[in-house]
Amino acid sequence: MLPALDPELRRALAARIRYYNEMGIYDFYRRPVSVGESVAPAAAPVAEIQPESRDEMSPRKAAAVAEPVIVEENIFEVLTAKPEQGAGNPVKALKIIREDLGDCTRCPLHKQGRKQIVFGVGNPEAELMFVGEGPGADEDEQGEPFVGRAGQLLNNMIKAMGLARKQVYIANIVKCRPPGNRTPEREECETCSPFLMRQIAVIKPKVIVALGATAAKTLLAMNSSMAQLRGRFYDFKPTGVRSDDPDWQGCKLAVTYHPAFLLRDPRQKGEAWKDLQMVMKELGLKAPSSR
Ligand code: SF4
Repeated sequence: MLPALDPELRRALAARIRYYNEMGIYDFYRRPVSVGESVAPAAAPVAEIQPESRDEMSPRKAAAVAEPVIVEENIFEVLTAKPEQGAGNPVKALKIIREDLGDCTRCPLHKQGRKQIVFGVGNPEAELMFVGEGPGADEDEQGEPFVGRAGQLLNNMIKAMGLARKQVYIANIVKCRPPGNRTPEREECETCSPFLMRQIAVIKPKVIVALGATAAKTLLAMNSSMAQLRGRFYDFKPTGVRSDDPDWQGCKLAVTYHPAFLLRDPRQKGEAWKDLQMVMKELGLKAPSSR
């Protein structure tokens, strides 16, 4: 078994792995360790953990001489094949992810008053996906994202795009309600979002709409303001997951205001509508004529 790693080192290493994933490198190999040889120092500097060379990252070449790295921390799940891959259909695949999540206690939100885990809802083959921040009181009660007042507004936004709620997929960055509806902590987002990334890789949407700054910043790994994030598309690829579909290697991502923010400041609804129109254009949607 590998020695436990320092949390900071683990975070740095995970970031490095994501970086390689973004470059299209997914398979990591370690040379076999002879008996008596130490595996790796528990607190080795990050620089020493870089893959040695691009050549050695070639799966075909390396597989003949090396064994896959076995990892013990879920932050390194990026290295392993996901159990839902090969499930055959998205309904089954999402079920496998839900089962994998289990009665999750991976982050502090599990002991801060949640009633249930709010996994996500909607069409498992949706072309359009909405991602919010986290469940509120109504969502925690009903086990479904966006069912309160903000959910009503989201439903109206979806309808205005010429779609029905059941045609899209809706999820959040964190799946448990933060107490007092506080913003989820970075650590909570980082711990929970790999499950969302796996959901995205299964659903394979054409467009994701990030609702609010927390969703946008987590998905894009950017720390910009809403004003800077809105008004354009980003090329998005779920981190840590390799799509098993050669026809889907990512999608477009747009950022708009969270419906809860729009309830507090309805003057911004026009701006949100501009964002949604951009998405409609991308998806070839037309607003219903009654609008
Ligand atoms: S928020 Fe996510 S990671 Fe945290 S306990 Fe809930 S399901 Fe687990």
